[in-house]
Amino acid sequence: MSDQQVPVLMDRDSREWWLALRRHELALQTCTDCGRLRWPSRAICNDCGSLEWRWTESRGTGTVVSWTVTHRPPSPQALVPYTVVLVRLDDQDDVFMPGGWNGPADGEGLAIGLHVRVGYQAVVDQHGEDATILRWEPSVGSGEEI
Ligand SMILES: [Zn+2]
Repeated sequence: MSDQQVPVLMDRDSREWWLALRRHELALQTCTDCGRLRWPSRAICNDCGSLEWRWTESRGTGTVVSWTVTHRPPSPQALVPYTVVLVRLDDQDDVFMPGGWNGPADGEGLAIGLHVRVGYQAVVDQHGEDATILRWEPSVGSGEEI
């Protein structure tokens, strides 16, 4: 577990997403009227305006569409370098989810189109409470490649 505090912004719409991460599940809102996946979580469907949804478990896989490597710490406590990747989920091709990278801190080995799977990291939030964040990692060798 990292000693670094991570901001966790849990609200009415995202609470279940954060709780699912603690169970090592990647949950997505699914519109019960049109089937559209909603991420980030929100009260209203962007496609049909429905206020109804249910939580479904994502396959937790996708492909890298972009990434950034930070070399200058945004706060004195930040450990650099670190990499954040943007992943297009296999569940729905217009849902993109950012997350930390469980590969080399400098992003070496990343490539557009690299197939990845979700991983989880226990952290401490800004209130000193245990929380979990997602971190993408290569799916090669996991037995889950597509
Ligand atoms: Zn909808």
